Amino acid sequence: MQATNIANPAYFHKVVDCQWACPAHTPVPEYIRLIGQGKYADAYMINWVSNVFPGVLGRTCDRPCEPACRRGRVEENNGEKPEPVAICRLKRVAADHKEGFAAMLPQPAAANGKKVACVGAGPASLSVARDLALQGYAVTVFDGEQKAGGFVRTQIPRFRLPESVIDEETGYVLNMGVTFKNGQRIESMKNLLGQGYDAIFVGCGAPRGRELEVPGRWEAKEHIHVGIDWLASVSFGHITSVGERVIVLGGGNTAMDCCRSARRLGGKDVKVVVRSGFEEMKASPWEKEDAQHEGIPILNFHVPKSVSHEGGKLTGMTFEIVKAVYDDKGKRSLIPTGEADVFIPCDTVLVAIGQENAFPWIEREAGIEFDKWGLPVLHAESFQSSLPNVFLVVTLLLAPRTSLPPWHMVMRRQCRLIAS
Ligand SMILES: Cc1cc2nc3c(=O)[nH]c(=O)nc-3n(C[C@H](O)[C@H](O)[C@H](O)COP(=O)(O)OP(=O)(O)OC[C@H]3O[C@@H](n4cnc5c(N)ncnc54)[C@H](O)[C@@H]3O)c2cc1C
Ligand code: SF4
Repeated sequence: MQATNIANPAYFHKVVDCQWACPAHTPVPEYIRLIGQGKYADAYMINWVSNVFPGVLGRTCDRPCEPACRRGRVEENNGEKPEPVAICRLKRVAADHKEGFAAMLPQPAAANGKKVACVGAGPASLSVARDLALQGYAVTVFDGEQKAGGFVRTQIPRFRLPESVIDEETGYVLNMGVTFKNGQRIESMKNLLGQGYDAIFVGCGAPRGRELEVPGRWEAKEHIHVGIDWLASVSFGHITSVGERVIVLGGGNTAMDCCRSARRLGGKDVKVVVRSGFEEMKASPWEKEDAQHEGIPILNFHVPKSVSHEGGKLTGMTFEIVKAVYDDKGKRSLIPTGEADVFIPCDTVLVAIGQENAFPWIEREAGIEFDKWGLPVLHAESFQSSLPNVFLVVTLLLAPRTSLPPWHMVMRRQCRLIAS
């Protein structure tokens, strides 16, 4: 029998199921105990050290910690189904009542003479910026947008996450001596490499929404929008209304945000239409539930076939009805049932069928190796590129429909490397 390696901290982490399940390994029992004692600022600090954005996460985290919670297995007097402790929402409690926290913020160490550039001001870059600034690095964060926060600011609808929470928590990071060059999109990696940074961290997210390719799509393009672009336009106030009859294509959390936003912008008949079955949808169960509570039906096993229009004005979409068939290895195929196609009339279509990473600004001759799918080749653990001082997060490879915390563990590793 092999001896247990107790030199590996993971051995101890696994003892606390929820803490192990949290991608940032937040010490859950510790902060909940502090909340129980009314020490909200201390509880917030425990979170801030671990996951950087406790107020954001307390409202939006995908909360993988909760299915791991032991109370979910042992609570017997908790209705029909035992429920976990509300770990995520308790984080929000600490964030909302943390008076005196600002005075507890640590001060950055003395300058160590090293310069680091972060591309993007989303949670990934800001996590790196926070950790490195505290260690005395001179960190410069570039973002094409005016305000920091990345997709958390431009994609997560305001009814789920107030902007004041984003301002406050990104502010804690940017006020740690970090230089924020807003409105400055990096257009050339070669140029950035020439600016004398000791290390470059690329956290530019997954900015491209996948397109719908069916007949009629481009003829009716005025009424068909890529979900993430549409959500950003809603967030910036460029879009303030929507057609009365809306079809949202896709079964992930982006689709849920699109349909619930469409409802709030005046959509009266909003439907989510999904290729897969209800159980296989990628959206979190509570997101599906919230959409359904708002009277939004979810139609499963409908595959988009064509878009109908009259002189460019969208009139509806046709779907083929399919069913799931599994082979011996459990691989799923969607095959037509033979039923008649279904036509759904609509005025607007929102396409939320996935996202793609894009790095158009990294020249292929900059020295960073890319694979045949156009993604940078990265060290499996450190996410270091083939240029040793350039680190990248490939958002979709790490966690396709992610929540925030996975970045933080990755970031920690990258920070250690940058710092070494
Ligand atoms: C609709 C939707 C809803 C979501 N809901 C949730 C949720 O409820 N909970 C949750 O935890 N997660 C949610 N997410 C996921 C979460 O937003 C992302 O996982 C997270 O924002 C990724 O962080 P990031 O820092 O890698 O990239 P991003 O947040 O995408 O930030 C990248 C930043 O880089 C900037 N940038 C890009 N290219 C350049 C360049 N060349 N030069 C300068 N700047 C550049 C961009 O302007 C952007 O600000 C959601 C995502 C979407 C699309
Ligand atoms: S960050 Fe998310 S996964 Fe981690 S403990 Fe908090 S709610 Fe759970």
